[in-house]
Amino acid sequence: MLKRIAAMMFEFGGSPELRRARYKAMARQIPLMNCLIVFNMITLAYTHYGFVPKYLSVGFPVAVALFVGYRSVFILRTNVDTLSDDVIVRRLKTVVFLSLMTTSVLAVWSYALFQHGFPFTQMHVALFLCLTSIGAINCIMHIRQSSVLISVVVIGSAVVFFASSEVLVFHAIAVNMLAVTGVMLFINFGYTRDFASLVERGRILREQSKRLKELNGENMRLANADSLTGLPNRRRFFTELNALVEERAATDVPFVIGTLDLDGFKPVNDVFGHTAGDELLAQTGERLRKILPDDIILARLGGDEFGLIVPCPGTDEAILEFGEQVCAMLRVPFDVKGGTARVSVTIGFAAFPDAGQTAEALFERADYALCYAKQHDKGSAVMFSDNHERSIREVSTVVHGLREADLENELYVMFQPIIDITTGHTIAFEALGRWESPTLGNIAPNVFIHSAEQEGIISKVTSILFSKALAAAREWPQHVRLSFNLSVYDLCSMISVQRLVSQISKSGIQFSRITLEITETGIMQDFERAREALAMLRTMGIKIALDDFGTGFSSLSYVRKLPVDRLKIDRSFIAEIEENKAARDILRTMVSLCENLDLDCVVEGVETRSQLAIVEETGCSLVQGYLYSKPLVSKDAKAFLELCPLVDTAGAA
Ligand code: C2E
Ligand code: CA
Ligand code: CA
Repeated sequence: MLKRIAAMMFEFGGSPELRRARYKAMARQIPLMNCLIVFNMITLAYTHYGFVPKYLSVGFPVAVALFVGYRSVFILRTNVDTLSDDVIVRRLKTVVFLSLMTTSVLAVWSYALFQHGFPFTQMHVALFLCLTSIGAINCIMHIRQSSVLISVVVIGSAVVFFASSEVLVFHAIAVNMLAVTGVMLFINFGYTRDFASLVERGRILREQSKRLKELNGENMRLANADSLTGLPNRRRFFTELNALVEERAATDVPFVIGTLDLDGFKPVNDVFGHTAGDELLAQTGERLRKILPDDIILARLGGDEFGLIVPCPGTDEAILEFGEQVCAMLRVPFDVKGGTARVSVTIGFAAFPDAGQTAEALFERADYALCYAKQHDKGSAVMFSDNHERSIREVSTVVHGLREADLENELYVMFQPIIDITTGHTIAFEALGRWESPTLGNIAPNVFIHSAEQEGIISKVTSILFSKALAAAREWPQHVRLSFNLSVYDLCSMISVQRLVSQISKSGIQFSRITLEITETGIMQDFERAREALAMLRTMGIKIALDDFGTGFSSLSYVRKLPVDRLKIDRSFIAEIEENKAARDILRTMVSLCENLDLDCVVEGVETRSQLAIVEETGCSLVQGYLYSKPLVSKDAKAFLELCPLVDTAGAA
């Protein structure tokens, strides 16, 4: 039983936070309690001075004062926050033990004084015991065990002591002490219960908010990271970019951003499957991370596109050299599930502040450099330059000009003859669109056609040019055909295809006299739709020519699948034909491909007699080029037919 009571007295339940809070609250009040004890002892010793032994009136109070003073200083100097839970438990036990000891000693001292005193001083002793213990119980209420011990030791012993006296007043005092202490303990217990639940609620709240913070942190991490590669994602890339732009805005200290795009990634996905594609992307991230210095931010922007932020880039040459190193490293084959995959990477760089002063502008410029590199130098790194800026401005001027233009009056068509060199006959004219803007002057067709495509007005442009070409063709003899260039956008809906058909019908020209030219790259943008549209046109008797053959994919399987009648071999092959044997071989192969597939073949861009002679050797009979004629205005085209209907190849001018 005693053991259980002792265990209860030294047991401190609840959480470590609650123990710490109790100790803290107690520590704040202990010095006050000690002061109260010492002060009350001095007053009691004073009223007993002279008629009680010195060790009771002086020695004892001094000894107690020294001890409680030391304890107060010790507690005041302790930083509770630095104490471990174990230490706090130990200290709480000490407090309980010391409160038992101190109160016992005080009680003994008081009863010793009582023995020596007379009624008034005895009353003082009773008052001392009662008030001091009530004060102490209040001060130490956070340690329940101590308050109980003080009550039991002081009040309990006092009640027994006074009840055993013969004086009725002391009996009454004992009853009063008991009642007051009971009420005090009841109130204090209620208060400490509330205190404990307050501390506990605070602890739960703190834990919840800590967990919430951790969750937020995790969410932030997930929202800013790419799950496949573990690299920062697009959002994080732009956050970093915006921050750097803001930081450098004041000083204009340059930095560079880069966009990287894998070439040949789609075939890896198609051939090896998506798991292998994912592996390749993850390995790309790893390889890049390995060679990039720590200060460079690398992010996966999406798909097979990565982004770089280079805070301290050095010269343009240095950054391009670094870009080439990256390109070379990614050309090394990748081991993926199912085999070895090869890709290359093209990089576009743009420098702050020259290329752009906002994150958006910089990114657009880097992307422009990337597209430029893809078209001109795939698998390499390109830095956005003043030339790029100029051509962007030109395009935007052209786009603006096109929107304002009186297209009906400003667009016209020129015609370049296609000659059958075996007979010298002009078998057809290719219509080439021209735009003469009163404000911008003559704009090259590839430029304004591209802008019209971007602006969504290509069908209007095509329609005007086609009408004019058809009107001119009506003047030509029946055997001379009209070849007209189409944009892929002209084939993207049945409505636009039907518009072309109805234009031909209205012109009164036979469908069989019309050839429509479309480029390989155009067809590839939407192969199925283009194939359907071309097949439909072909059923009406219209001929289809595949333009600029050899510059795009040049895949034989695609040519086979397409409903075409003619291939036009791009003039880039002819340009080198005299000095380059490989170019001659390619030309020969392409011509024999046409023969095998039973297709007409036109060689474009023949400029010299020796080029013509080589073309003749290959067996190709249809040519087009400056050697015969540059594009001519309608009137001159008609005259060309009349002047040289049968040109002798040897005498071609
Ligand atoms: P394309 O269809 O390959 O047209 C042939 C281009 O080669 C024409 O350039 C022509 O002037 C040029 N050319 C012809 N013979 C020679 C030669 O011997 N040497 C050299 N160096 N060049 C020669 P042009 O008129 O500047 O047209 C460029 C491109 O613009 C055309 O290439 C075509 O893709 C496009 N285009 C022209 N007119 C139209 C049109 O009305 N609609 C569409 N959608 N595209 C058009
Ligand atoms: Ca053409
Ligand atoms: Ca062409």
